[in-house]
Amino acid sequence: MRGRAAGWFASAVLAVWLTAGGWLAGQVAHNEMAPPVVHVDHGANSAAARKAHYVVLVSLDGFRWDYAKREGAKHLLEIGKEGVWAPEGMLPSFPSLTFPNHYTIVTGLYPEHHGLVANSFYDPVKQARYAISDTKAVTDGSWYGGVPLWSLAESQGMRTACMFWPGSEAEIAGFRPTYYAHYDEKISEEARVAQVLEWLKLPEAERPHFITLYFSEPDHEGHEFGPDAPETRAAVRKVDGLVGKLKAGLDASKLPVDLVVVSDHGMVKVASEWITLDQFADLAGFETAGPLLYGKTEADRERVYTALKKAAPEFKVYRRKNVPGDLHFNQNEREGDPVVIATGPYAIRARGPEAGKPDRKPTAGAHGYDPALMPEMKASFFAEGPDLVAGKTVLPFENVNLYPWLAHLLGLHAPKTDGSLNVLAGTLRDDGAEPVQ
Ligand code: AMP
Ligand code: ZN
Ligand code: ZN
Repeated sequence: MRGRAAGWFASAVLAVWLTAGGWLAGQVAHNEMAPPVVHVDHGANSAAARKAHYVVLVSLDGFRWDYAKREGAKHLLEIGKEGVWAPEGMLPSFPSLTFPNHYTIVTGLYPEHHGLVANSFYDPVKQARYAISDTKAVTDGSWYGGVPLWSLAESQGMRTACMFWPGSEAEIAGFRPTYYAHYDEKISEEARVAQVLEWLKLPEAERPHFITLYFSEPDHEGHEFGPDAPETRAAVRKVDGLVGKLKAGLDASKLPVDLVVVSDHGMVKVASEWITLDQFADLAGFETAGPLLYGKTEADRERVYTALKKAAPEFKVYRRKNVPGDLHFNQNEREGDPVVIATGPYAIRARGPEAGKPDRKPTAGAHGYDPALMPEMKASFFAEGPDLVAGKTVLPFENVNLYPWLAHLLGLHAPKTDGSLNVLAGTLRDDGAEPVQ
């Protein structure tokens, strides 16, 4: 009842912009831009929500499972020591790309169940394209399935905030976060941390209990220079420092905050030049997106499948319905048909650049691959807080299991998803029983 009323309110209110000149500006160095925050008024936290603990969910894009130990990232390792750590990594969902995995983390659904099956893809039913660089698509809730954690919390009377997160700029399952910002790489990492800490200084009624924070490093350096390059190693140490600043601020707040630091995937050194599928098969009439192939007719799909079948050892091709089940990549039309899967760290694309346009070499590092074939795809997981056991390590687990666990930390009732609370129940100070509200 409350949820439905608040949902209506969310779509009816006019978002209020707090600009760089506003009250936030004083919180960051004056030459830095404070994030322009959109405020959607959902009313005050409910009485139950006020009693709940806080979760700050941080993503370090492309922070491979072994980076923290390799660089001696002291703040992250400290969080792991004082709380919970997956020393052998967390398993990303397939494909191990940024948007599919960030959105899996906040929905508990495999990409083919939430709908973001790649960073860029085609939808044969809508006959439209989604791309992370397309603001119109990114902010259009009709592309997104599932109930993201912020929408779940808002529907249960709890306020939320996103300092960037894939999906956070769209209305999904009837809600937006109460506070969010449009993605802008120019907003410095320090300003992002400052914003999160500011949100936690709001009066209890307005203070968000679930907060996301996103950094695009060390993914960027990993792509440009490769996972072992000095630039990538420096970026790892830099984001560790940012986590340290955040942690210090959270400690100073004296609030009961569970800090959860994850990454979306790892990074591997690319071992090929471009492998361009239309050199092996005639893709006339196909829509394509990256390596994805959308055949219009059954005859076209079968023809291209046959042509690619023995084309090269760097990939395997399947009719979509036959993609191995453990990849959870055989049910959604957005995945295309046939489906090409790399057998190693190879740069695969459907087509080269358009005629007259220059080609670019593949990047030094890449991800997107099957973590079972390439352990370099494994992501990171560290968490510490009042609800978590200290000094606990966990074996690699699938990132779909974060959702019921995060919902539990917040005291929310979670819908059924692809994840299970049992997987991480051993990290909880309570027994993982259903919350009473
Ligand atoms: P990729 O490594 O290709 O999977 O994607 C990583 C890129 O996604 C980063 O370099 C960011 O620039 C971009 N990105 C991350 N979050 C967002 C967002 N919320 N909106 C748009 N782009 C984003
Ligand atoms: Zn990423
Ligand atoms: Zn990347």
